[in-house]
Amino acid sequence: MSTASPAIEPTGVFADAIKRLEHAARLAELDDETLERLRHPKALIEVSIPVRMDDGSLRVFHGYRVRHDDTRGPGKGGIRYHPDVSLDEVKALAFWMTCKCAVVGIPFGGAKGGIIVNPKELSHLELERLSRGFIRLIGDFIGPETDIPAPDVYTNAMIMGWMMDEYSKMQGQRTPAVITGKPIPLGGSLGRDDATGRGAYYCIKELERHLSWKPSEITVAVQGFGNAGQHVASLLHGDGYRIVAVSDSRGGSYRKEGFDIPSLIKIKNETRALKAVYCDGSVCEAVEAETITNEQLLELDVDLLIPAALENQITETNAGDIKAPFIVEVANGPITSQGDEILTERGALIVPDILANAGGVTVSYFEWVQNKQGYYWTIEEVHERLLVIMAREFNAVYDLMKAKNVDMRTAAYAHALKRIAAAIEAQGTQRYFSNGE
Ligand code: GLU
Repeated sequence: MSTASPAIEPTGVFADAIKRLEHAARLAELDDETLERLRHPKALIEVSIPVRMDDGSLRVFHGYRVRHDDTRGPGKGGIRYHPDVSLDEVKALAFWMTCKCAVVGIPFGGAKGGIIVNPKELSHLELERLSRGFIRLIGDFIGPETDIPAPDVYTNAMIMGWMMDEYSKMQGQRTPAVITGKPIPLGGSLGRDDATGRGAYYCIKELERHLSWKPSEITVAVQGFGNAGQHVASLLHGDGYRIVAVSDSRGGSYRKEGFDIPSLIKIKNETRALKAVYCDGSVCEAVEAETITNEQLLELDVDLLIPAALENQITETNAGDIKAPFIVEVANGPITSQGDEILTERGALIVPDILANAGGVTVSYFEWVQNKQGYYWTIEEVHERLLVIMAREFNAVYDLMKAKNVDMRTAAYAHALKRIAAAIEAQGTQRYFSNGE
């Protein structure tokens, strides 16, 4: 069989992602056909969205939706709004979703979408027009049984609500299961908002158990203080972990005694500033902290580093300066494959993104199930079911890592690939068809 892959550019995030897949495929003893299928996104759509701006002018935005694979179920994955979105990036993110859903064993394939836009520059009405316009253009490409979007970087529950509403209008009937991460009154699930951070937290609790950590002795740095970063920091802080550094896109703060995370979150949400403060009720006062850059945060001498921002933060350029022995990837793709090699060689234990941040899509799955049933769960049920899945799959990957003496990323991919391959093989591979001749 030919291994030529014309759809993949030789460089770029997608090519880098596929490289890792090939590495893990050897461990999973994968049939060539599975690998060949996964090298090529199954379908994609590229759209231009005309939006009437508040001042009366017209702007045209560009957006994408990529369905990478749907062998195990409908494509699933978020929609991001970011000025750096590109088709190459969306393809890589869709591929990671295929692997992520398989790692945790939920019945979805992988998809992703994105619009090239800085949403901070748009008014709320412009954002609504853009979101609805995007759905009108990709409406025939998505659906509760084909491809189900969700929030991602710089998109949120309200945007998901608009999108669901627009899709429902196109269908002439309310269709909540087309999209997840919706506001609760519009069919969202309890516990979806903090699910990504909580899933990562459950992984860290398993690490704590395996390594007999005492939380108060563990120092943590969190890069990225958006939804996932805030929630994982907050849950860890609640257990006594010392969060000594945090950052957002504008920079970070370091304080060796650790931060009071609820106070940081309060100020960040009220003022958008990441200030080292301590709040007692509504009274907040500044505490001393050192201003650091995002790059400095990554290189801090901490026990646990949590990259929770964007991809490509740790590369061959700075990997040699990363000191943390444990890294939990809450962002998608924060470490490039070359960065990964350097860190792994040094003996760092990296809980890979496709496992560490799978809590979000797992609760998205719960939301989809609830929408289809029209029967809604309590927060306790959501947390309990999320914990069962995260702990079970974390331990399956951890055990495979130990048994095969490989890094945790390779083990996670191998674990995912086995599930994907089983679905592909269930439809017959060359071995089956040529024997039938
Ligand atoms: N955007 C999230 C992710 O990268 C969630 C996707 C979903 O819930 O479908 O995992």
